[in-house]
Amino acid sequence: DYLLTQDGIITKESLLYPFEERGLQFGDGVYEVIRIYQGTFDLLEEHIDRLYRSAEAIRLEVPFAKDALIASLHQLSEKNDVQTDAKLYLQITRGSAPREHSFPDVPSNFYAYMEPSERPVSPLQQGVRAVLADDIRWDLCYIKSLNLLPNILAKQTAKEKGAFEAILHKNGTVTEGSSSNVFIIKDKILFTHPAAENILHGCVRSRVLALALKAGLQVKETAFTTDQLLQADEVFITSTTSEIMPVIEIEGSLIGNGKPGSDTRTLQLAYEKESGIQTTA
Ligand code: PMP
Repeated sequence: DYLLTQDGIITKESLLYPFEERGLQFGDGVYEVIRIYQGTFDLLEEHIDRLYRSAEAIRLEVPFAKDALIASLHQLSEKNDVQTDAKLYLQITRGSAPREHSFPDVPSNFYAYMEPSERPVSPLQQGVRAVLADDIRWDLCYIKSLNLLPNILAKQTAKEKGAFEAILHKNGTVTEGSSSNVFIIKDKILFTHPAAENILHGCVRSRVLALALKAGLQVKETAFTTDQLLQADEVFITSTTSEIMPVIEIEGSLIGNGKPGSDTRTLQLAYEKESGIQTTA
């Protein structure tokens, strides 16, 4: 297995970082997770664009030009001979230097690797449970930062309560999930939080908004409350690995009749078509 670094493609075992690495010591970096369906990257340019936006927001240099990075990722995929459903993880940190909060004058550290990743077919068909959690994160969640402590704590709470996701809210206004964007459908209108600075601008989120319009739903990028969430006709969350995941129960109360909704199903089918997915859920 190979990974891509700023110095080219090397074996996974040969990447060694010094203990003073800013990703390790400060979470001083940004990352991306990119879906691969049957060996083909999905939404690749969208993810790479977001990576550059995240890096720029924290004044971090990406050690590749955009085109060169995309070409190198294709090379990595070929070298790894990836032909199944998989995902790519990629991160850039502010490099390795003696520990000091302010920026060091050293090159950034970059790596990207791939691993097999099956689609969550059964949850996609049956739906999942969610819980609510306070959104205690900072103001710039559009940056895909390595600092994920609040997200990790929220996800762990969800897991301990037997739920798939924690839906975050600030004073009763739903922002997003711990690792997903959140949508509701009420009276044929699709609502999701606007792509403001306090949520991640999900690549799946954007695609879903376009597909919803095509499917004849009215779309409102308007924030909604936890009460509206609980009273929605349909709820789903979106992410690169979870796609369009129906939410059928939140904090023990059923959404609709407790089964994935028909508009959610329509969007799932359109999504599978759009991303060229062959193994249908
Ligand atoms: N919000 C958060 C906090 C996330 O971690 C993710 C997953 N990357 C998303 C939303 C969904 O983003 P995407 O559709 O690009 O995977």
